[in-house]
Amino acid sequence: MGKAFDVIVVGTRCAGSPTAMLLARKGYRVLAVDRASFPSDTVSTHLVNPRAVNALARWGLLDRLVATGCPPIHTYSFDFGAFTIAGAPGTDKDAVAYCPRRTILDKLLVDGAAESGAEIRQGFIVEEIIVEGERVVGIKGRSKHGGAVTEHAGIVVGADGRHSMLSEAVHPEHYREKPPLLVGYYSYWRGLPTHGRFETFVRDRRAFAAMPTHDDLTLVIAGWPYAEFADNKRDIEGNYLKVIELAPDFAGRLRNATREAPFAGAAVSNYFRKPYGPGWALVGDAGYNRDFITAQGILDAFRDAELCATAIDQSLSGARPFEGAMGEYQRIRDAEVGAMYDFTCDLATLEPPPPELQQILGAVHGNQAAMDGFARMNAGTISPTEFFAPDNVEAIFAAAGRAQG
Ligand SMILES: Cc1cc2nc3c(=O)[nH]c(=O)nc-3n(C[C@H](O)[C@H](O)[C@H](O)COP(=O)(O)OP(=O)(O)OC[C@H]3O[C@@H](n4cnc5c(N)ncnc54)[C@H](O)[C@@H]3O)c2cc1C
Repeated sequence: MGKAFDVIVVGTRCAGSPTAMLLARKGYRVLAVDRASFPSDTVSTHLVNPRAVNALARWGLLDRLVATGCPPIHTYSFDFGAFTIAGAPGTDKDAVAYCPRRTILDKLLVDGAAESGAEIRQGFIVEEIIVEGERVVGIKGRSKHGGAVTEHAGIVVGADGRHSMLSEAVHPEHYREKPPLLVGYYSYWRGLPTHGRFETFVRDRRAFAAMPTHDDLTLVIAGWPYAEFADNKRDIEGNYLKVIELAPDFAGRLRNATREAPFAGAAVSNYFRKPYGPGWALVGDAGYNRDFITAQGILDAFRDAELCATAIDQSLSGARPFEGAMGEYQRIRDAEVGAMYDFTCDLATLEPPPPELQQILGAVHGNQAAMDGFARMNAGTISPTEFFAPDNVEAIFAAAGRAQG
């Protein structure tokens, strides 16, 4: 029997490390474990939207990221073939995004948790969630070089990703589920500057995006509908390059660049899971996942970490019953991401935009304030509900009418 902790967090990437860090800063005894040893890479591109950059600043970690030489991204551009919408993704205060290698970002987050007083065990695999009656009470696992270990805690947090072992053990309610909609492959290119821009290209049943990362490399991800996964997987490079060829200017830039890494790829399903129950909570992809086409996962993980750590603190300190505090975490999460979830799932079908949306996009093009709004919506700075609000859409059409007149 190991020593008792207030909280055990399984998984120490974007959701787990901030959760452990914030609870340790409140004075709780926190154990956070991960089978990976950091620095560790993972299959994910790594656009960190301005609101997530703001979270890093609030937590005192942004200066460290900036010091790694990660280039800031000040513009998001969306090339639809007929026209391009380009705007600022953030606000005056939080103006830029970053695209840090996950080897660097995730290590920085783990270090932040350790420095805040959380006990971190890397190279530690959780093999079993201990459930007594209806209640989760601890974990069993082993470290790479040690024997089996059992640890107990008041609350076990699953920050263990899409295939969450904690979720498997507690069978939470699933809702609004959708199967994988697209498959994407990415690699890193040298000699492909984007000059501080996140560039997206949308074509019929195809899309790709380019973003600058560490070491003067540019990450380029290309995708097609999941229905074509099996046919296309035999020639990933050929199909990837065919997607890029749909934007001849960009293809010309890519031809002058050198690919520096093998392709990595993924397709993910979309779901909400109830994120709490007796003795347990879920954060990040373990509790909610949406296709990566809108690059919201890191922002979502950071938001969950703050909401969940606040709820756990309220419960453990006796300020509020567990059910009420965690119910609020779920309500805020679902309300904040609901419209973005639908927008993301629509986009991820890679179907041409419906006629009403095409009209709106046509009217947005050329109107800088509206283009900034569109970039902000895609960055998660404002909600699709706000951007597509009837008043806003009317104002966009009125401005387009005046410009034509
Ligand atoms: C192709 C692709 C591109 C993406 N691009 C972006 C993007 O540009 N921007 C963005 O914001 N998001 C992006 N995402 C989403 C983003 O990667 C995730 O939302 C985010 O990483 C979720 O973090 P997490 O901490 O919840 O889970 P994860 O990153 O999955 O971390 C879970 C951790 O738990 C550990 N773990 C699991 N089980 C156990 C166990 N039994 N014992 C011990 N440890 C365990 C794992 O080792 C892992 O380290 C992308 C995703 C994909 C697939």
